[in-house]
Amino acid sequence: MKFFDNHNHSTFSPDSSASVQSLIASAIAKGMRGIAITDHYDIDAPSRDQEFFFDPAKQQAEIDRVTLELAPQIQQSGFQVMKGIEVGLQPASMEKIKTFTSQYSFDTVIASIHFVDGADPYMGTYYTDKDYRKAFSNTLEVMYSTALEYRDFDILGHYDYVARYSPYGPGCRDITMAEFGDWLEPILQFLAHEGKTMEINTKTYKNHKGYVPVLDTAVLKRFREFGGDALSLGSDAHNPDRIGDEFAKYAAVAKECGFRYLVYFKERKPQYYKIDL
Ligand SMILES: [Zn+2]
Ligand SMILES: [Zn+2]
Repeated sequence: MKFFDNHNHSTFSPDSSASVQSLIASAIAKGMRGIAITDHYDIDAPSRDQEFFFDPAKQQAEIDRVTLELAPQIQQSGFQVMKGIEVGLQPASMEKIKTFTSQYSFDTVIASIHFVDGADPYMGTYYTDKDYRKAFSNTLEVMYSTALEYRDFDILGHYDYVARYSPYGPGCRDITMAEFGDWLEPILQFLAHEGKTMEINTKTYKNHKGYVPVLDTAVLKRFREFGGDALSLGSDAHNPDRIGDEFAKYAAVAKECGFRYLVYFKERKPQYYKIDL
C-alpha cells in the first residue's frame, strides 16, 4: 500500500540539509502517497544554537516552486505535498508560539516537546540528577499541560522522544502503559476527544547508543479505546533516504492495535486512508 509521511525536515530546519526538492523527489521515487514538510519552530531554547525557527512564507513559496517544477511526476502519481510545521511547546512560550503560528496557513501542525526543565534530552543533561521515572513523567506532565493550552495542532509528535536518548539501564528505558499510564491516559484521552492524532515516529525505534527503544502497543491500544480513530506515520526524516522508513512494519502494528485507518492533514482537516496490508 502507499503511505503518507507526515513528519519531515528540509533545509528550513537548521538540523537538516535535505532540500525541499530532494525530499519530494525521493518520496515520489519511493512510491509514496504524499509527504508533509514540517520544519522546526523551537523558540526560547536553553541555548542559542538550539533555537530553531524559519520563515513559513519562504518555506511555502519553495514548496510551491518545487511542486510546479515537478508537476508532471506529481500529477502522474497523484502525489500530494502538505505544508507543515513542527512546533516545540514550552510552558513559558505559549503566547509567542500562538501569535507566530496564527499568521500563517498550514496543512499540518505537529506539536512536540523538545525541551523540558531548560534542557533537551538529545543533549543528555536533562537526565542528570533524575531517575527514569522522574525524567519521563516530568516530560509527560509538560506534554499534557502545554498540549491542552496550545490546542491548535493536529498531531502529537513523538510522545516518547525522552526515551529515545535516555541513558538508563535495561528495564528503565521505555515509556510503557503499565508504568506511565497515569500520565499517558489524560494525553491520549485529550487527543481522541479533540479529534487529534498521535504519531508512530519511526526514528525513535532505532539504535540510540546501543539501545533500541520499544514501542509499547498498549499505548496505541489505549488511544484506540478512547476513540482515537487513526494514527499518523512519521519518519522524522532529516535526509531524503529516510522518508517512509519502515512504514509497512508500523502500519501492521497499527492494524494489530485495532486501527483501520491512517491519516494525514490537508488544510488542517484529517484525510483518512485505509490500512490495506
Ligand atoms: Zn521532534
Ligand atoms: Zn521532527
